[in-house]
Amino acid sequence: MGGLRIKSIEPIAVSLPMKKPVMMAGETVARADNVLVRIESADGTVGWGEAAAAPTMTGETTASLSAAVSYLAPMLLQRAADDFETTVAAMDAALYGNTGAKAAIEMALHDLVGRVTGQPLYALLGERRRSRIALLAVIGSTDQAADLREAQQRWAAGYRAFKIKVGLSAPEADAARTQAVWRKLKANGAQCLVSADANQGYTVEEALRYTAAFGDGALDFLEQPVHGKDLHGMARVAAATAIPIGADEGIHSSADIERHRALEVVAGVSLKAIKLGGLRAMVDACRLCDRLGLKINISCKTGESSVASAAALHVAATLPALDWGLTLTSHGLAEDVALEPLPIESGHIVLSERPGLGIDVDESRVRRRQQEFAARKVA
Ligand SMILES: [Mg+2]
Repeated sequence: MGGLRIKSIEPIAVSLPMKKPVMMAGETVARADNVLVRIESADGTVGWGEAAAAPTMTGETTASLSAAVSYLAPMLLQRAADDFETTVAAMDAALYGNTGAKAAIEMALHDLVGRVTGQPLYALLGERRRSRIALLAVIGSTDQAADLREAQQRWAAGYRAFKIKVGLSAPEADAARTQAVWRKLKANGAQCLVSADANQGYTVEEALRYTAAFGDGALDFLEQPVHGKDLHGMARVAAATAIPIGADEGIHSSADIERHRALEVVAGVSLKAIKLGGLRAMVDACRLCDRLGLKINISCKTGESSVASAAALHVAATLPALDWGLTLTSHGLAEDVALEPLPIESGHIVLSERPGLGIDVDESRVRRRQQEFAARKVA
């Protein structure tokens, strides 16, 4: 199809305001520094992709994401946009790592091809298994009263899946806060998922103190209690508690998933496009998890807009199982790049049947938020 020839590829770094800063162990996200990728085909159709800067997760900043997209762009020009596998292989052969930049390009290609061929993005990845998905409400501060208030507000708004950020204070204080929120939510009666995420914030000893202080309550999972590379530490925590342990920062490939499973370190994993290098890699990783009996959480990186959020939603729609839920981040932005934010109904998101990502990017807003880079001497 002639219209599918790639005519131009442009990385656009943006800095978007957040409604409020999101606190995690080791990082507080006060502004969303993301790179959008705009790909135009020969017939003038435009597709969009996105990756958040994630210096402590993928090693990528907005400047390096932009540079990597520009580096890869010339070899992609004039290719057929729908030749996904060959394009991904070509990018991997040309540039090691840089999974966020590759994910943003691959996402934009899927949006573009969906638009040109009139198909929703999920149809390019597989079969639709669900069209209304419960969203995880992310709660996190060092203030227990504030967390309880927020949990109750989200519950009242219809949310039935929760993630509490921990690793922010002493393990016993984190455990007490998790307990309080967990009790409050469970007291509401209906079925709900309650998890905690330490974002690598504990040493093994601290993680053991957290799980001991929490007790063997029915927390659905505890994510990345210790450093992502410390598989033996993760295994020690897993062996000491009945709480299922999940990995996030430790998972950057299917090989990482297999390593975690082989050591019986985790019961499940959190998957992000920027870690795995694209939507197809995410779908492949999910197939592997299914085979290995691992639970799955699909997630965006904090601060990602409706572009990456819609892409994660399309992936989630195709999976056989999604036991640990879907985390979207666009609703944390005070200003999104989409004309209409993704619609949330009672804590659930509904899949769009419109072509591509199913959103309209407001390009004038993108240009207003665009950041330029200048090499500078630091002294
Ligand atoms: Mg996480």
